[in-house]
Amino acid sequence: MIDYLIVGSGLAGISFAETALLNQKTILVLDNKSQSSSLIAGGLYNPVILKRFSEVWQAQQQLEVLDAFYQKLEFKLQIKVDYKIPILRKFFSIEEQNNWFIASDNKMLAPFLSLDIVKTNYQGINSPFDYGEVLQTGYVDTKLLVETYKNYLSENKLLIQETFDYHSIKFHDDFVRYNNIKAKHIVFAEGFGLHANPYFNYLPLDGTKGELFIIKAPKLKLDVIINTSVFILPLGNGLFKVGATYNWQDKTSFPTDEGKSELLARINEIVDCEFEIIEHFAGVRPTVRDRKPLIGTHHKFSRLHILNGLGTRGVMLGPSMAIHLFDSIEHQKQLDKAIDIKRYDKKR
Ligand SMILES: Cc1cc2nc3c(=O)[nH]c(=O)nc-3n(C[C@H](O)[C@H](O)[C@H](O)COP(=O)(O)OP(=O)(O)OC[C@H]3O[C@@H](n4cnc5c(N)ncnc54)[C@H](O)[C@@H]3O)c2cc1C
Repeated sequence: MIDYLIVGSGLAGISFAETALLNQKTILVLDNKSQSSSLIAGGLYNPVILKRFSEVWQAQQQLEVLDAFYQKLEFKLQIKVDYKIPILRKFFSIEEQNNWFIASDNKMLAPFLSLDIVKTNYQGINSPFDYGEVLQTGYVDTKLLVETYKNYLSENKLLIQETFDYHSIKFHDDFVRYNNIKAKHIVFAEGFGLHANPYFNYLPLDGTKGELFIIKAPKLKLDVIINTSVFILPLGNGLFKVGATYNWQDKTSFPTDEGKSELLARINEIVDCEFEIIEHFAGVRPTVRDRKPLIGTHHKFSRLHILNGLGTRGVMLGPSMAIHLFDSIEHQKQLDKAIDIKRYDKKR
């Protein structure tokens, strides 16, 4: 008998797997490679929603958990995934500069918005109105993290590569059986794949497709992440990750010509040097209408749980949401109403 059978090995699944292992629980993870969100994500973490100048929900707590979580994983897997580099918001006018200073007066945002305007002239970008620097930011190399974590699971015989069959769950008093596996709990972390899950697919997971590029631009010189209508993230050797688009209609994970044109137009608004597209990716972010994660336990089957709805912020949310879910299962700690799936009870 294992403690947790986890469905999904994206950021949500591995965050829960690692939280359980750190608490001496036994796990088994199932994944079918049907979703690509965690593998292609930009990986940025940023405590401020720059479009609306508002603080990300519980940003400070999430950053603290994130720091410790990825640091431990780096040590365990012997890889570097967490890069602490500034995110600079490019200003397009004096008015935007003024709005920055007004926002930094806000008590909640003050710890995250630098008051020093960045006047650096980055080769390849024209920015006459300079930049504002967001503090406590960076990015996680999510592809390396997820792939290395899956290798670690595989080497320890903790990963099964197959599609979870929801109709094969058998319920018993003290455990659930899934084929020949006996588990105390099942945690579903399928990202947008949640729609195939008959136990939780009443939850309003909309999904927002995103596309991004890896470009080569030898003349672009950046040691920071630039954020405007797209982000430009330096990967070294003249390579940059650039993204992302937001599409609420198309729910496939294929790159499209429409996405390509949109990204090209956005890049050309900021970058004034030559570049070449090296790769083009797409994935569906597991977004929720109220922009909050979907965490909790099934109303009828108390051994089935969900960790989903990480939306556009899987890197920051994954580790803390995994701890919240774990504490609610193991220590009956009440979940914050904002993230608890109980808020959608009427939709069942
Ligand atoms: C273009 C783009 C850019 C992004 N940029 C950022 C960013 O800069 N910063 C950030 O924090 N977030 C970003 N995100 C969002 C981030 O990727 C997500 O929040 C996160 O990856 C969600 O993780 P997840 O584990 O819930 O879902 P997923 O990554 O989709 O993982 C779900 C896993 O479950 C598996 N699965 C599903 N159904 C089944 C089944 N029935 N049986 C077995 N396995 C199953 C899938 O194969 C998959 O491996 C971006 C997303 C996109 C698309």
